Amino acid sequence: MGTMGEPRARGRFGEYGGRYAPESLVEACREVEAAFREARADPGFRAALAELLALHAGRPTPLTPARRLSQALGVRLYLKREDLAHTGSHKINNVLGQALLAARMGRRRLIAETGAGQHGVATATAAALLGLEATVFMGERDIERQAPNVFRMRMLGAEVVPVTTGSRTLKDATSEAMRHWVGVTGDSHYCVGSVIGPDPYPWMVREFQRVIGDEARGQCAAELRTSVPDYVVACVGGGSNAAGTFAGFADTSARFVGVEAEGGAGAARGRLGVLHGCRSLFLQDDDGQIVEAHSIAPGLDYPGVGPEHAHLRDLGRARYLTVTDDEAVSAAVRLARTEGIVPALESAHALAWVIRAAGDGELPAGSTVLMTLSGRGDKDISTLKELV
Ligand SMILES: *Cc1c(COP(=O)(O)O)cnc(C)c1O
Repeated sequence: MGTMGEPRARGRFGEYGGRYAPESLVEACREVEAAFREARADPGFRAALAELLALHAGRPTPLTPARRLSQALGVRLYLKREDLAHTGSHKINNVLGQALLAARMGRRRLIAETGAGQHGVATATAAALLGLEATVFMGERDIERQAPNVFRMRMLGAEVVPVTTGSRTLKDATSEAMRHWVGVTGDSHYCVGSVIGPDPYPWMVREFQRVIGDEARGQCAAELRTSVPDYVVACVGGGSNAAGTFAGFADTSARFVGVEAEGGAGAARGRLGVLHGCRSLFLQDDDGQIVEAHSIAPGLDYPGVGPEHAHLRDLGRARYLTVTDDEAVSAAVRLARTEGIVPALESAHALAWVIRAAGDGELPAGSTVLMTLSGRGDKDISTLKELV
């Protein structure tokens, strides 16, 4: 089996992954896995999801050549435009898949955690579309910081539950959502927002996001003389947009680069641990306590990385690098002024690496680079206003 196929038994990617959860959740995860295996083999399910993605989420998203920026950098940069997907990022791809699966399993409610609110908004959107209820757990501090998204979720009919434990941010909201799921597994589906959590989530979320990579592969074949780019680059929080993009090129010679926030570098600097149901790399102190992540991009503010990325790193199949908040902000401004696109600050991290690597020769002149632009910058306007 090549890389990025199915994980081994019990959701193992090398020494990472697994299903570290209380017995009641292990059973619930088994049910999700069985339902997912059945659904992905069912042409009816695949057609229904493809239709939702096309008619509601706006897929396929374009592959845009960044002409002026490419000329300045001396590389050929192509942007996979997830910023143009409904709700403004790639998160909708995964959420529509899981919501459709939940409905097929007879569940009437979605449970989700959210940090900045992007995954919560996507979940609330999918729930509304499919006639499901949505309960979104969100740290109290994030509720204060992300008022527009809190309102958006409520507008869409979701219940937003404030989490008052720990640092009152994403890590705590995730713990709380998992605890809540224990009591309601027969009635509710837990909709995880990235390639993290207990098996089958890392694998299932990657499969729902591989539409990014599969579309891009076809678009590259039509656009590029070589048909496969030299480099495939994406930002990495938990790692779902990167995993979905990489998956489309797993069988090629394209080099994979995942770009993390300096203060949230699970893959680049994390240590082996177990959190939220899976074994992976997490930022920890000397006692093994999880250290809080810090990034100007809320979607990169997670102290770990999905288990498959940890494995790809060990294999040398992908490299994981970091950029600073300042580099990301400069990259966002540069993209706005050369290409007329205001990117999400998360996506700006991937671009910041491309700009740096083109400048210091790490990216050879003339290289073709496919970069996933994971989302649009509207949500970051209040942050950017203070800095630009
Ligand atoms: C949530 C988010 C991310 C980070 O999540 P991944 O699972 O690493 O993809 C990146 N970009 C945007 C725009 C996001 O909303």
